[in-house]
Amino acid sequence: MSLLCQVLASGSRGNSILVCSPKTRILVDAGTTCKEVVKRLEKTCAGAKDLDGIVVSHEHRDHVSAAGVLSRRFDLPVFMTRGTLDHLPPEIGRLSSVSVFSTGKSFELGDLRIHAFATSHDARESAGFIIEHEGSRLGICTDLGTATKLVQVRLQGCQGLVLESNHDINRLMEGPYPWHLKQRIRSAHGHLSNDDSRQLLDDVYHEKMRFVVLAHLSETNNHPDLVLESCEKLRACEKWECVCFDVAKQDVITPAFELNGLD
Ligand SMILES: [Zn+2]
Ligand SMILES: [Zn+2]
Repeated sequence: MSLLCQVLASGSRGNSILVCSPKTRILVDAGTTCKEVVKRLEKTCAGAKDLDGIVVSHEHRDHVSAAGVLSRRFDLPVFMTRGTLDHLPPEIGRLSSVSVFSTGKSFELGDLRIHAFATSHDARESAGFIIEHEGSRLGICTDLGTATKLVQVRLQGCQGLVLESNHDINRLMEGPYPWHLKQRIRSAHGHLSNDDSRQLLDDVYHEKMRFVVLAHLSETNNHPDLVLESCEKLRACEKWECVCFDVAKQDVITPAFELNGLD
């Protein structure tokens, strides 16, 4: 009955999220290395051999670097847009099998229904996802420069969210990155700041929201404490009291968050 979500790794050195129903286990993105993903999966309810597929959000290495090896070693199908497939880094190598999905459409993977939607990012055809199982609705959206109307509409009604909170704007602007990189991150095709993310959360809040995992933090331009501080601004409002917040890290897996469609 339940839908489970656990962030295995999150940040510019690699991203991967485990999503499970009782019958289906998938990874959303497979950054880092195969060895690291396998090791982290051992701490969860699903080993690498139990996986049913990998769904890739876009071709940047921090989301696909382990996809090729995992796919070949465990005979896993990999799902992605045509734009992502055409721009995969060459070192990913052969994939055991590929299924192409289109943004704006849904597809089935086991007993999960996955709706992919377009995000604004400097990749060829990047996607965010709504993953549904028996009334539970999980939204996963990292790597976007701006929360478009489409993103806001898609993320409405999710009981669980994994959402980017990439940088603190002051840290970014005063930090060591070269100007062109600061501009890229701030642009509509870059990454969401803590303030952007908080605003988006406020826009999509509803009373059945159960958990929010803030993800893809920059190690240079953000800090988990700053993200938690940002969350506290939301939690000053009583309606957020029933929502569990967590911050995903690069080197530590999160607890498993569970949704029960009957809640
Ligand atoms: Zn990324
Ligand atoms: Zn990216």
